[in-house]
Amino acid sequence: MPLQFNDPAITVAIVGCGGFIGSHLLDAVLCRTKWRVFGVDVDFYRIQHRLHDERCEFLNADLADPGVVERIAKFPVVVNLAAICTPSRYMAEAPAVIRSNYDHPAALAEACAKSGAWLIHFSTSEVYGRTLEDSGELDEESTGFVFGPVASSRWSYATAKLLTERFIAGLEGLNWTIVRPFNFVGPYMDFMPGVDGEGIPRVLASFSTALVRGEPLKLVNGGKARRTFTSVFDAIDFMFALFVARENALSQIFNVGNPDNEVSIADLAARMRRIYAHLKGVPEESLPVPEVVDGEAYYGRGYDDSMRRLPSVEKSSRLLGFRAQVPLDVVLEESLNWFIGHYSDAAD
Ligand code: NAD
Ligand code: UDP
Repeated sequence: MPLQFNDPAITVAIVGCGGFIGSHLLDAVLCRTKWRVFGVDVDFYRIQHRLHDERCEFLNADLADPGVVERIAKFPVVVNLAAICTPSRYMAEAPAVIRSNYDHPAALAEACAKSGAWLIHFSTSEVYGRTLEDSGELDEESTGFVFGPVASSRWSYATAKLLTERFIAGLEGLNWTIVRPFNFVGPYMDFMPGVDGEGIPRVLASFSTALVRGEPLKLVNGGKARRTFTSVFDAIDFMFALFVARENALSQIFNVGNPDNEVSIADLAARMRRIYAHLKGVPEESLPVPEVVDGEAYYGRGYDDSMRRLPSVEKSSRLLGFRAQVPLDVVLEESLNWFIGHYSDAAD
């Protein structure tokens, strides 16, 4: 049975509801349905405007707590977004990254298998591993995985996510769907270092921070790696396609990405400089020139990279009728505009 959006008896548990994707999903569920939300996170700053919504119950708690896991699994639909997912932490905090991306979601999966909840688990496109510049489309059913050596601790996150996928797919009696996001971007992504977070955020927030602060954008190892950036609003539409086509989505893994938005990181930097100059009404030439940095010097020992992440989207199109729509420059302008406004007092 598809989930009825006008059914007020349905409660969806969103774990990691205070994060980038979670905050957008929370807004969309409240705006597009009559459902209730049970939201769990350890950080609520992005969703202050929802904290007193009468259709929501929020729990400030850690997924590491077995009592919290039991409470979450009682709901019929569980979306698990909670994870350490900042690349700069994969090297320095590998054991914590592995616990966060394997131990906690595996415990939640076991609880959902017992309760009968539908677990929609967020994995990552990084499970495709150490892809090369000439890697082709990455396909959920046929592409294999190669990671770097254990000393390349960059792969701590991807290997933990992949083990969780295998655990979920093998659990007797679990109703599951796995989502592999391909570089979602949009407003509220990550943080500005020194203002509302520490360390190196993902590339969109790193480049936005540098532009707002008048610093050079850092191109890791020359910016040759390519990514397909996907609007978080497309990602939310994907979630609704999933809710509608539940029967087709069970026991399936889905790439969620926009293959039309593939760029090299150097090209991304050029586009963001151009859009930023346009938004601020300044000549592009007045902005600092991007600077090439060495990956291990920038992120720490053990950094490594995927050189290309181009998703096959045939499966989500065939089973769910979903295809991402938002063009790259549109989502970049929207995100930069938001970033400039949100951090206008914190540029220095
Ligand atoms: P995010 O860091 O913005 O959100 C994660 C949220 O989970 C945060 O609010 C954090 O406080 C919370 N959290 C972390 N550990 C927790 C714990 N133990 N207990 C309770 N809450 C906890 O990240 P995001 O970009 O929204 O990503 C969400 C999910 O999607 C993650 O699983 C991530 O691995 C996956 N993913 C995202 C992308 C992307 O492009 N954004 C790409 C690949 C994979
Ligand atoms: N990157 C970069 N400069 C930065 C941040 C990231 O060149 O300031 C590169 C990074 O090395 C990778 C790509 O941008 O090749 C995407 O990095 P991100 O941290 O967003 O996540 P990933 O897609 O690697 O998980």
